Amino acid sequence: MSGPAPSKVFVITGPSGVGKGSLISLLRHRIPELELSTSATTREPRPGEQQGVDYHFLGEQEFLDRVDAGEFLEHAAYSGNHYGTLRSEVDRRIESGSPVVLEIEVQGARQIAQSMPEAVQIFIAPPALESLKERLEGRGTDSPEAIARRLEVAEEELEARDEFHHQVVNDELERALGELEGIVRSKLSESG
Ligand code: 5GP
Repeated sequence: MSGPAPSKVFVITGPSGVGKGSLISLLRHRIPELELSTSATTREPRPGEQQGVDYHFLGEQEFLDRVDAGEFLEHAAYSGNHYGTLRSEVDRRIESGSPVVLEIEVQGARQIAQSMPEAVQIFIAPPALESLKERLEGRGTDSPEAIARRLEVAEEELEARDEFHHQVVNDELERALGELEGIVRSKLSESG
């Protein structure tokens, strides 16, 4: 069949603190056509985070009502809060032909693998668990209790790494970025 190639969806997953966010923002500088889906969450905004930009910050009841209404493509409970991808965020970008990036944790990535098997799944792994602890402590955005919870989840998440199409070890930022860019560019240049 000919016609325009469908938009590509890239799922970037991996444990909290692995550097998904930094890699994605650098990647988007290199490939500006990539659009990032803005997730919804029930967690409190961190200082400097903006409503509708960093996340759609929702109350718990609103989040659950929107889950019931079928508005989410995927959603998961993570570290005491809900996170999810709104269908509207992805659909409008697919309709306009833009490639879309989802930055999500592992449970959500599994749901997308089921519902959108054509989406390209990329797992970002730390070189070692210790480096996650250093990053989470260094960014200073989470309490010691929250960091401990995130590290427990991270151990489980790391065990899931082989489930995904690609793995990129964030051992050195430039190198990892280059590898990620290579994967994304090669998929973008495939037709169909
Ligand atoms: P944070 O609270 O640090 O912003 O995010 C915590 C975790 O939730 C991170 O691993 C992040 O990638 C993930 N996350 C962010 N948005 C979504 C989403 O829409 N769905 C899912 N399943 N996870 C998300």
